[in-house]
Amino acid sequence: MNDCLFCKIGAKKIPGKIVYEDDRVFAFEDINPQAPTHILISPWKHFSSLTDAAQEDAALLGHILLVAASLARERNLLEGYRTVFNNGAGAGQSVFHLHLHLLGGRTFRWPPG
Ligand code: AMP
Ligand code: ZN
Repeated sequence: MNDCLFCKIGAKKIPGKIVYEDDRVFAFEDINPQAPTHILISPWKHFSSLTDAAQEDAALLGHILLVAASLARERNLLEGYRTVFNNGAGAGQSVFHLHLHLLGGRTFRWPPG
């Protein structure tokens, strides 16, 4: 997608602090971190949100979760970390290229705001 911020970060057309990449996903530091660790994990493939994911994306979505767990282990977040997909403006989604938030390094409350 030409006009998508995260497609541009993935393509290195605009700067981003990429901390991990493989053949399916890339992960980068959130520009406005809400916790000491705040990483976004996105597929190279553009889709807007989980709502647009199909059965054929099941393995990719599972892979995104496993990358989050691996980064959490790497960063010693095992006391507790949070993984969040915001889906739709009503849930706070502001960038419409699917991404998983990985947040850690502080305690979290439930329910979230
Ligand atoms: P969401 O609100 O779930 O769509 O999350 C979008 C996230 O992208 C927010 O946490 C923003 O801080 C983050 N963000 C926006 N622009 C950039 C950027 N250029 N580089 C890294 N993170 C960004
Ligand atoms: Zn995109």
